[in-house]
Amino acid sequence: MKKIMISACLVGENVRFDGRNSKKNSKFIEKWKKEGRLIIICPEVTGGLPVPRPPAEIQTDKRVINIKGEDVTSAFEQGAQKALTLCKQHNIRIAILKEGSPSCGSSLIHDGSFSHTKIPGQGITTKLLEKNGIHVFSENDLDQVAASLETTK
Ligand code: SF4
Repeated sequence: MKKIMISACLVGENVRFDGRNSKKNSKFIEKWKKEGRLIIICPEVTGGLPVPRPPAEIQTDKRVINIKGEDVTSAFEQGAQKALTLCKQHNIRIAILKEGSPSCGSSLIHDGSFSHTKIPGQGITTKLLEKNGIHVFSENDLDQVAASLETTK
């Protein structure tokens, strides 16, 4: 059975920077959960960052800096590597990652100014997974995930 990687915050785990979650209520996610398809990860926590943690954004030089000015790039990269390892272990070709996150965003990220401004871009984990042939969808594209599962059975 094809497994799917999914952001932990999307399935209700309180792993966001602010200690909350971004639970996505969806019949698809419920179905895939029941089928045992979901491999759950929070790359930032897996990379060693605590909950809660200061929000961080990708800067123009590609470093990830938190709102206190600390460079957390290394933790973000470690989390991304661990997500990739997990994908390889489970032969995962599809991931559903939270849009807008500096780790998980697939088409939008914040602009680095901590002003709630979003720009086109990908998070650190998304970039690494895509580079390795794993198709990353956002939580807004679950119908596409379902279609993709059908065609890759
Ligand atoms: S790193 Fe990804 S999984 Fe973790 S809280 Fe942020 S968006 Fe959710």
